[in-house]
Amino acid sequence: MVVLKNSSEVRGMIAAGKLSAQALKLAGEMVEPGVTTSEIDREVRKFIQSHGAEPSFLGYGGFTGSACISINEQVIHGIPGPRKIQEGDIVSVDVGAFFKGFHGDNAATFGAGRVSPEAQALMDATRESLYKGIAMAKPGNRLGDISHAIQSYVEALGYGVVREYVGHGVGRKLHESPEVPNYGKAGHGVRLLPGMTIAIEPMINQGTANVRQLPDGWTVVTADGKLSAHFEHTIAITDQGPLILTQC
Ligand code: MG
Repeated sequence: MVVLKNSSEVRGMIAAGKLSAQALKLAGEMVEPGVTTSEIDREVRKFIQSHGAEPSFLGYGGFTGSACISINEQVIHGIPGPRKIQEGDIVSVDVGAFFKGFHGDNAATFGAGRVSPEAQALMDATRESLYKGIAMAKPGNRLGDISHAIQSYVEALGYGVVREYVGHGVGRKLHESPEVPNYGKAGHGVRLLPGMTIAIEPMINQGTANVRQLPDGWTVVTADGKLSAHFEHTIAITDQGPLILTQC
C-alpha cells in the first residue's frame, strides 16, 4: 500500500532529507586517495547522531555501517572497512537519516582525485538520468514514466541498467511501496499522486546490466567487473511537481 503524506508529514521529511543530504555532502568531501571507507562512515555517523538523528542503515538487516560505500565495480551495499580509496577510484556513498519519525535517503558517486574520462562520463550520465526521472515525477504521470525516462537516457549511451535493485517509497519506513524500477514502459504502472514520497535511485553500469553479490552477503558488484555509478534523491510528488527533499 502506498502511504500518502500530508503537508506536515512532508515538512518532517524535508528535515530528515536535509540531514541526509548534509551527511552525503560530508562523505563526498572526504572521498580522497588514502582515506578508508570506515573513516568516512564514522564521520557520517557522528554527524547524523550529533543532530539528534539516527543513521537509517545502521543495524538494518544487520548492516554494520551507517553508510553504504561502494568502490568502482561495486554497485551498492559496500560495507565500510579498512580499504583505502585510491587515486582515480569512483566511490558511491548511500546514506539516510531517521529524524523525528521520518527517513531521508540519498546517494551519489564521487571521484577520488583524477578519474578517467570514461568514469566521469558514467557518473555524469547516472546523475543526469536521476534528474530525467525526477522530472517525470508529477501528478497524472505513471511510475513507468519515471522508469522509462531513466532507462532510455542511459541505454542510448550504451550503459546497463541494474534490474535486481530498485528505488522505493520512503517515509516513516525506509522502504515503503511502491518499488521504483529504473527500467520500464512509459504510461504504465501506478498513477502518481500528490503526497507520494519516493526514493529514485538509478544504478548504472558501464558494461553489462548483470550483477552478483559477494560472499560477504551485502556487496553487489557488476558481473563483468566494469564500473558502476549510483545517484539517489528522496522526492515528494506535489501539485506543483517534484520536490527534492534531500537537499542541504
Ligand atoms: Mg534508497
